[in-house]
Amino acid sequence: IMSATVAIIGRPNVGKSTLFNRLAGRRLALVDDRPGLTRDRREATADLEGFSVRLVDTAGLEEAEPDSLTARMRGQTEQAIADADLVLFMIDARAGVTPADEDFARLARRSGKPVVLAANKIEGRQAGLDLYEAYDLGLGDPVALSAEHGLGMPDLIGAIADKLACGEARREPEPEEGASEGRPLQVAIVGRPNAGKSTLANALIGEERVITGPEAGITRDAIALDLEWSGRAIRLFDTAGLRRKARVQGRAEELSVTDALRAIRFAEVLIILLDAEKPFDKQDLQIADLAAREGRAVVIAINKWDLVTNPRRVLPELLEQADRLLPQIKGVPLVPVSAKDGNGLDRLMQAVFEVNEIWNRRLPTAALNRWLADMVERHTPPAVAGRRIKLRYMTQSNARPPTFVLFCSRPKELPSAYTRYLVNGLRESFDMRGVPIRLHLRQGDNPYAKAGRRR
Ligand code: GDP
Ligand code: GDP
Repeated sequence: IMSATVAIIGRPNVGKSTLFNRLAGRRLALVDDRPGLTRDRREATADLEGFSVRLVDTAGLEEAEPDSLTARMRGQTEQAIADADLVLFMIDARAGVTPADEDFARLARRSGKPVVLAANKIEGRQAGLDLYEAYDLGLGDPVALSAEHGLGMPDLIGAIADKLACGEARREPEPEEGASEGRPLQVAIVGRPNAGKSTLANALIGEERVITGPEAGITRDAIALDLEWSGRAIRLFDTAGLRRKARVQGRAEELSVTDALRAIRFAEVLIILLDAEKPFDKQDLQIADLAAREGRAVVIAINKWDLVTNPRRVLPELLEQADRLLPQIKGVPLVPVSAKDGNGLDRLMQAVFEVNEIWNRRLPTAALNRWLADMVERHTPPAVAGRRIKLRYMTQSNARPPTFVLFCSRPKELPSAYTRYLVNGLRESFDMRGVPIRLHLRQGDNPYAKAGRRR
């Protein structure tokens, strides 16, 4: 039996207690119209699709302005988030996204905990219309809800159960903007047996070999090595130990993909190490594809460059191959290295830092929509059954990897060639090389058509 703690957070009056009561199935919490009515933090146990969940309601402990995030409220929320396995973040869809909501969203994002975003008070409204802004919070798809009227509860419970079920896919906290130096960047080296992974790890670590694993969540076979490069802390995941143990003929091949899978889970950036003598082997492509599907940032290092006799001719060929064979991560940086001689390591790590920056990037909604208008003008979406598909609004709903939501008139009918045009366009216009880009299509109207909107 799984048991998890779910913290309900959000500014005063969005409906946290109402939802808490509904999920707990009892009228436990005192609900009042006045914002921030004094009351204690409440807890209850609820059964959500087989998960026994400890619910924590973080309703205000003090009188507070409805739209100010006081230090105390912030501290209380941070504590609740720290204690939770999942954060249920509520906003009031009728009020739209307020600056205080944005503050709470930042706390939730930084925590690295799984977050379910709930947009409350949607009863009697046109679904979808009020939710555009919610996407801008960068916490993925909002669940439309009416806590008071009990609408959207199966969706909410489903979303919570989904996130808890894949909870083993541990996420590192998102760094505060401009303050990422303190937290080590998680990097893993993957590749086929004998590509030179151990040699590269040792070259990077140099003299100060510090073994820090195993820690919670890391299997006993994977160890983490801490190092510093150009003043930045790096945690290098080494799964080679496992492979070495099984270097029995025949099994090694199979295991390196298993190794890669494990590494992909822990890493933020993956270095896929190719052997210059046998680049883009089937196994390499398989690993790169896994990395893209898992949404990781990738750098390809071509090892044993010291054995290449005509580097000037070989490199352009390899670049061409990379883009052709790996369209999912088009433009992926390709760095020649010699792990044995320690050559190319600086350029390699520079590329690692760069793709990580791209992977974490958030594009402003206004810029995206200007870009979208431009793309549509250059190349109109096709007419299907005599009617043009209208692309209406776009926003980045998540980072790590960059994830976008495009609202359009008939999402199911938009040809995949057109989505590819958009994804490739995003990659080029915003210089997002080497990271997988997600684009989700949603049915929706133009939010600007609605009167009285702030944006
Ligand atoms: P909290 O401060 O976030 O815990 O919010 P409460 O649960 O105390 O709710 C604040 C107010 O919003 C109360 O008047 C609730 O009745 C009201 N409310 C809660 N959920 C809904 C809803 O789904 N629709 C509407 N219209 N009002 C709601
Ligand atoms: P792993 O199985 O991926 O961990 O590969 P290893 O690090 O054990 O290296 C496999 C073999 O390749 C060893 O014999 C290394 O000495 C050799 N090797 C590793 N890097 C280089 C390199 O940059 N140049 C050359 N010529 N050989 C290398």
